[in-house]
Amino acid sequence: MLVRRRLRVTGIVQGVGFRPFVHGAARRLGLAGHVLNTASGVVIEVEGDPDAVAGLERVLREELPPLAHIDSIEATDLEPLDGRGFVILESHDEEGAFSLVPPDASTCGDCLREVDDPQDRRFGYPFTNCTNCGPRYTIIRDVPYDRPRTTMDAFVMCAACQAEYDEPSDRRFHAQPNACPVCGPSLSANLEETRAAIGRGEIVALKGLGGFQLVCDAKRPEAVARLRERKRRSEKPFAVMVADVAAAEAMCVVSEEDRLALTSPQRPIVLLPRRIAAAHLAPGNDSLGVMLPYTPLHHLLVRGFAGLVVTSGNVSEEPIVIGNAVAIERLGGIADGFLLHDREIHTRVDDSVVRTFEGRTRVLRRARSFAPRPVELGHPVPQVLACGAQLKNTFCLTRGSQAFLSQHIGDLENYETLTFFEETLERMQRLFRIAPVAVAHDLHPLYLSTRYALALEGMERVGVQHHHAHIASCMAEHGVRERVIGVAMDGTGYGTDGAIWGAEFLSADLGSFRRRAHFRYVPLAGGDAAVRQPWRVALSYLMDAGIGETPLPGVAEGDRRVVAQMIRTGFNTVPASSAGRLFDAVASLLGIRHEASFEAQAAIELEVIARAGEADCAYRYDLAVGEPMEIDFRPMIVAIMRDVAHSVPVPRIAARFHETIAAVIEDVCVRIRGDEALNRVCLSGGTFQNWLLLGNAASRLRRRGFEVLLHEQVPPNDGGISLGQAAVAGERLARGL
Ligand code: ZN
Ligand code: ZN
Ligand code: FE
Repeated sequence: MLVRRRLRVTGIVQGVGFRPFVHGAARRLGLAGHVLNTASGVVIEVEGDPDAVAGLERVLREELPPLAHIDSIEATDLEPLDGRGFVILESHDEEGAFSLVPPDASTCGDCLREVDDPQDRRFGYPFTNCTNCGPRYTIIRDVPYDRPRTTMDAFVMCAACQAEYDEPSDRRFHAQPNACPVCGPSLSANLEETRAAIGRGEIVALKGLGGFQLVCDAKRPEAVARLRERKRRSEKPFAVMVADVAAAEAMCVVSEEDRLALTSPQRPIVLLPRRIAAAHLAPGNDSLGVMLPYTPLHHLLVRGFAGLVVTSGNVSEEPIVIGNAVAIERLGGIADGFLLHDREIHTRVDDSVVRTFEGRTRVLRRARSFAPRPVELGHPVPQVLACGAQLKNTFCLTRGSQAFLSQHIGDLENYETLTFFEETLERMQRLFRIAPVAVAHDLHPLYLSTRYALALEGMERVGVQHHHAHIASCMAEHGVRERVIGVAMDGTGYGTDGAIWGAEFLSADLGSFRRRAHFRYVPLAGGDAAVRQPWRVALSYLMDAGIGETPLPGVAEGDRRVVAQMIRTGFNTVPASSAGRLFDAVASLLGIRHEASFEAQAAIELEVIARAGEADCAYRYDLAVGEPMEIDFRPMIVAIMRDVAHSVPVPRIAARFHETIAAVIEDVCVRIRGDEALNRVCLSGGTFQNWLLLGNAASRLRRRGFEVLLHEQVPPNDGGISLGQAAVAGERLARGL
């Protein structure tokens, strides 16, 4: 008996070796038919005996090429045609349809073997790639994805490369960036000389995959110090690239999950517990960001070094540089030398950052190799643009049930970053054929993302409260629409009452929320200055607790008096309920840090110190019942100062403080469950990048029988806000709210 079946496959199925894979499988199973790319995916028609046809469907489910990802397969039975042979047909376009643009992928094992084989024609060639690996999103100008629509259009394939490209059984069949030393991109300088320069302690600006990178020898503190000084990055941690997992293990503790994250095709920066002293790399931090090489160029560069500092090629907080001329102009004052190449980078993408927690990889910065793969919402929504927040900005476009998050854009605080936002938005709308009918934005009137949204004409506007967006982002990535308890432990976000919120307990669905509880407000003196100077917040807490009128050790008395006066009179202060600021304040009260050179620096150091302490008890806090409930930490502040006066070790106080916050989370969630019979809790907000707090809070909640949802695909920090905004806007539009 013969059957014939048509399979319409959607997902990441183009530019990833999918058709040759189907071709090979169909031939193996003795099936007749064809496979072709369409603008909306891939269509396969197969004919043969029923077992073989079922066999192909099983192969599609179980044995995909490494970069392929199937969203859906729609099968239709057809009349058998008594066909012979299996062929790959020419692509054809469909108006309005679209397929997914694949993310960039790290060098595969087969390509790396060729690069290392002195007999191979690609021996030592830094731009080797195939259908299973290589640049994609960073070089694609438009879809459908083929070579003339990428920055590889500048290179004409040699006969040997063309033959690979044309041969269905070849690993490079239709590999659009296919290249070799004869016909492909080349370096501007000798790689060995560059390696020698790095070995001498020089800083090199390297043209990487998604942009320029500044590179130096991680084992040379003086080189790293020079890089910090020139890049104006005094204390923020640097990530290190190492040759292999063994080299990572020499510096850090690498669990099995960490090993999988390090060696995954995305090759992100993985935050690992550090085992060596490395104050020059990550001061005050007990973890270190480590990544493995992800292009042949990086493989060839890093060998022989214990580790290389690899950081974004930019000045301070500007976007990563991608053009050769711009790099020479902007990075000339930082780098001692350059390693350029002539393959143009079309789209800038930074390295991604992840951390493993409870056995899973958690994305903290979603960029290279993750973007632009969509997040599946689980239900269709109208086409929406969500503009995101101010810091760690991303934006989000929806189409059908998919949410396309931009790569990490950065802090929208300068013209260059706003330009990056606009250019990426314009490109993603084009690539994914999205014409939004509504724009979602934060409520903060001064965020550049809000102002951008409000300036757009002819679109419905949907304002989404910051912490509702945090909780909605967690719901959205888990496909949850029903009401949940949302715990947002965060830095700062604009509240509906004009105050700064940031420690919020919501009961929320995607359409709306109720604010059920929050930390008691304290005045934040001087707005942003309070972020840079944790001692200001410490003073607010001390004065609120009635013990503030004394000099603060480590703080100039004149400054303290000025700020105390501001707090007393309310001049230039905003009421705030921020968890991040409370962590900063406690760090200052414990003498850990009074001034921060980047956001959350003090809070991070507090966490590190707390890990060394024993949480033998929690401090007392008060809970004022009401709508919303108010969590009052004045008893805790008094107790902390008493502990300080009695010389209780700082790590123990820090641990007790963490224990207190986790206990509050448990306590308040139990109360909300008592009122509203909600058993699912979403934990979101930047403060949940504190793993000590997250682990403690999650296990307490589980012990109480809650179902706890944590972030995985998108960051708990403001990088996830745009997804939450999109989910909320989609829901409100669909329900006419
Ligand atoms: Zn490859
Ligand atoms: Zn060639
Ligand atoms: Fe936030």
